[in-house]
Amino acid sequence: MAKHAILKSFYASEKWQKFRMAIINERGLKCEYCNEFVIRPAELTLHHSKIELTPENVHDVSISLNPDNVMVVHHDCHNKIHKRFGYKPERGVYIVYGPPLSGKSSYVEEYMARGDLIIDMDRLYAAVSLLPAYDKPDNLLNNVRAMHNALIDNIKTRYGKWNSAWIIGGYADKYKREKLANDLGAELIFCNVSKEECISRLEVDEERKYRKDEWKSYIDKWFERFVE
Ligand SMILES: [Zn+2]
Ligand SMILES: [Zn+2]
Repeated sequence: MAKHAILKSFYASEKWQKFRMAIINERGLKCEYCNEFVIRPAELTLHHSKIELTPENVHDVSISLNPDNVMVVHHDCHNKIHKRFGYKPERGVYIVYGPPLSGKSSYVEEYMARGDLIIDMDRLYAAVSLLPAYDKPDNLLNNVRAMHNALIDNIKTRYGKWNSAWIIGGYADKYKREKLANDLGAELIFCNVSKEECISRLEVDEERKYRKDEWKSYIDKWFERFVE
């Protein structure tokens, strides 16, 4: 695995997502860099403040998952902190995949920058159905797919002025996933979350409250089809 891919897959892991939420819950919705309050946990991230995280030390939990080594900060403040040390966000094409409710969108929200191209079937559905993102009528699938494919082609040919591009999807099928990554020159990022965890997130999910059975079947289907 490429060096930066090791860090990316760590940030997409269940243990990091849980650690991040636990720290934010414990310390409250406030940025420890500028001391401003926020409304949603998604506005905050963690910065490794004493020992910087590297591909070499990421598996040492006394560094990567140590509450004493992290600061709760705004995404913007996080960028400012890193810029002081000459950090530039990496440009690239990324496929972020994993089961439903594994945190794919939150992952992208956390690491994207303004001006990046984001391709997400659920969002495309919402754009042409005027329905909330969790409600996807089957009869619109062909039209949504057509938009999706047009955007994928734009990435293939590097058409447009986007910085990085992020493709969000289930991609349980190893062959399809690797072919797409190959065609696009993209890096794969796996949101590796267990089925039990996805289901327990569904249980407390407000938005999908009335479509639990439907989403439970999406989760089941993903794990049936998944090949690592
Ligand atoms: Zn801040
Ligand atoms: Zn940081």
